[in-house]
Amino acid sequence: MRSVSIFGATGSVGANGVDLIRRAGGPAAYRTVALTGGRNIARLAQMARDFQAEIAVTAHDELLDDLRAALAGSGVQAAAGAQALAEAAARPADWVLSAIVGAAGLVPGLTALAQGGVLALANKESLVCAGSLIHATAARSGARVLPVDSEHSAIFQALGHDNLESVKDVTITASGGAFRDWPLERLAAATVAQASTHPNWAMGQRITIDSASMFNKAMEVIEAKEFFGFRPDQIKVVVHPESIIHALVSHIDGGSIAHMGAPDMRHAIGYALNWPARAELPVAPLDLAALGSLTFRRPDENRWPALRLAREVMAAGGMAGAIFNAAKEQALDDFIAGRIKFTDMGPRVEMTLTALSAQAGFGDDPADLETVLHWDRQARKEAAA
Ligand code: NAD
Ligand code: MG
Repeated sequence: MRSVSIFGATGSVGANGVDLIRRAGGPAAYRTVALTGGRNIARLAQMARDFQAEIAVTAHDELLDDLRAALAGSGVQAAAGAQALAEAAARPADWVLSAIVGAAGLVPGLTALAQGGVLALANKESLVCAGSLIHATAARSGARVLPVDSEHSAIFQALGHDNLESVKDVTITASGGAFRDWPLERLAAATVAQASTHPNWAMGQRITIDSASMFNKAMEVIEAKEFFGFRPDQIKVVVHPESIIHALVSHIDGGSIAHMGAPDMRHAIGYALNWPARAELPVAPLDLAALGSLTFRRPDENRWPALRLAREVMAAGGMAGAIFNAAKEQALDDFIAGRIKFTDMGPRVEMTLTALSAQAGFGDDPADLETVLHWDRQARKEAAA
């Protein structure tokens, strides 16, 4: 029986992963090692009971007693805190879904990678912060990293057995998020509630706001470079309001292969779960005639400065990704808390990159985890409002 662990099981991606495993037969089909979550103890405990997990972990130390109480009599072990998350990741599992949001997903992901097996990676922050570390760790243990971000799953699937050498470029699509059609001058007054709605995808609040600011797409451009090894100039972004085409791979012979599907994360998660096979998934089929038309437009970098910053980060290399991500996470915290405006996030990230670039020694490969975490902390301090 295959064993699985889900980090961030109570979140949007994690719960979709849990749903797929439940539909596949739950504990009759998979042995669950670890399930982790945050403050939603009741939900985490219910999942852990349903799947007879070995261990359930909450990220918050102070909630350990609550989790213990919720799991009383179930036979599921309870644990809490960052150290416990890493320890849970050190328990070998055949398939691990990395679906914690933010740089907090990096250590559990790396720890799981060091055990071998498959790491289904939704946590794009890991690749943006420490792409070479992820690859080096996987190479040492023989682990396999599979993309779960829909655009990267789409590229992975569209590439098939084609040689990377024959790829001319790749295009990832962006819905444009909540403010796609807003007049530019209204953006400064955008509220957290307005930024937290997405036209097509149901996702966690942070990635939904990152979609409105296009920081999510900026992260995904860097993720594509780090995951596949494309040159920065090979990665393009196009706004596609319908979110039906997720990525397009264009080859040197003029052929382009697009990946299409309903905007439902269960496709990408399920693809990574069943890879290299395919299995039936609860995803609505496509009806092209019913869709009628698909539309595309070039992204406007006045509206979305994050896309320009992504190119600067890729050109800089080294710690720029870790600094970019941490500054973005801090600016997002400050926006959600009402300390800065929606339009302040881009300039804050840019200022942080500029302020730390000389000291951080851009251009060097991220050497080790400690260095990455150091620059993550520095960037949060520098970016804080
Ligand atoms: P979410 O906010 O819905 O869930 C996040 C999960 O992480 C929760 O289980 C939460 O308890 C846990 N968590 C939060 N902070 C933590 C911390 N400091 N330590 C440990 N655990 C913590 O997020 P999501 O939308 O599911 O996104 C998860 C990841 O997947 C992100 O990296 C996101 O960019 C990526 N992703 C999400 C989607 C989507 O459709 N939601 C699509 C593509 C990629
Ligand atoms: Mg995506």
